[in-house]
Amino acid sequence: MTLAPPRRFFVETWGCQMNELDSQRLSSQLMQQGVLPTRDPQEADLILLNSCSVREKAAQKAYSRLGEYRVMKRHRPELLLGFCGCVAQQEGDRALERLPDLDFVIGPARVGEVGQVLQRRLSGRRVVATGFPDAAERNYDLDLLSREGTYKGMVTIIEGCNKKCTFCIVPSTRGPEQNRPMEHILAEVRHLLDFGFREIELLGQTVNHWRDPSTAADFAVLLDRVARIDGLERLRFVTSYPRDFTQDMVDQLGRHANICPYLHLPVQSGSDRILRLMGRGYDIELYRDLIGRLRTSRPGIALSTDIIVGFPGETDEDFEATLELISEVRFASIFAFKYSSRPGTAAPRLKVPIVEMGVADRRLQRLFALQKGIQLEINQTLVGETFDILVTSWGKQPGSQTGRTPCHRLLHFDFGEQAAELGSMTRVVVEKAFPHSLVGSRVAA
Ligand code: SF4
Repeated sequence: MTLAPPRRFFVETWGCQMNELDSQRLSSQLMQQGVLPTRDPQEADLILLNSCSVREKAAQKAYSRLGEYRVMKRHRPELLLGFCGCVAQQEGDRALERLPDLDFVIGPARVGEVGQVLQRRLSGRRVVATGFPDAAERNYDLDLLSREGTYKGMVTIIEGCNKKCTFCIVPSTRGPEQNRPMEHILAEVRHLLDFGFREIELLGQTVNHWRDPSTAADFAVLLDRVARIDGLERLRFVTSYPRDFTQDMVDQLGRHANICPYLHLPVQSGSDRILRLMGRGYDIELYRDLIGRLRTSRPGIALSTDIIVGFPGETDEDFEATLELISEVRFASIFAFKYSSRPGTAAPRLKVPIVEMGVADRRLQRLFALQKGIQLEINQTLVGETFDILVTSWGKQPGSQTGRTPCHRLLHFDFGEQAAELGSMTRVVVEKAFPHSLVGSRVAA
């Protein structure tokens, strides 16, 4: 059957900000080829599933979703189906074998090639584009990126990861670290600000391990250079690796008011024994010391973290150590998950007892209950405070909008007589606090 070039595409995105950005890159390249986006998969003649392998049973879920799209394809044989993202990288040729009507597979490091992949498919062959080309061969197409929204611009500075955390699939799905040159990053930030973006988020799996490939300048230097760019109101970065966070980086947070007073710093466990089994390369003393220095440099900084509960070998004592750390640090928010094994990682081969599902469930519930109380207490101390917030969306209640404080808290507010423009800054006083959000009213600037 001769395939017709698609006219409309639909992208479904799972997972982290890296995947969101990859979907924007996929979209921009398709649009350059004259294929237009649609929000309705029924209208699309090209569907891309940008998958995430951090999800539990990731491959199974991805195949099941692709199965739903294949049902659509039975009624519309001209529909093209592309499998992208981290699960696609892991599955590669196997995905084409398993799904005879899948048209192509693209790994995260090959996103810049979607245009060529589509052309190759239209000329007859099913295509697998996975693996890790050198940074120099990667196509970023950033000037033409199809970005969602107009206020927060995400900028990848480092892709892949060189670490070997025993639970993590990233090194095998996104490959070894590839650093983008400083001048490219600065040019992209300036370009986004010229375009009207107000907030820039620097992205990388280990964002603070970035090094300029030619000068070896580190992330502290980059933070300083980016923060000094005229017109940048808010600068964030994610995800930081505790061991790589130097004092120079800590100092930059105190030096630049436009670096947001919010930091995501995954600790994963409060037990040194479990951290060793995870291969994290730091202990709790290092983490604690870093938190202290961050709070000295930037008083009031909001901290969030990731925790894995029920990692192989985790005893009651190890879990209690995690709860102790949470009580001590008082994080503004926590992303906590039950451990589940990922294919190709080292943790399932550790010679330690597995934690039963029921035990892990109960631990996770205890952790959530503890954290919910802490978050409520912290948020209650913010009642009466006024924040300059970035307006991000309309609220659920008539007359309300939603935004983010500089410390990244969600704030729903009554906008008064006139709504604020989405993407603008407005001043809001906090009137009520809940564990996961704040509620307030707009006040005169
Ligand atoms: S630092 Fe560890 S958890 Fe983070 S991406 Fe690398 S291997 Fe995964």
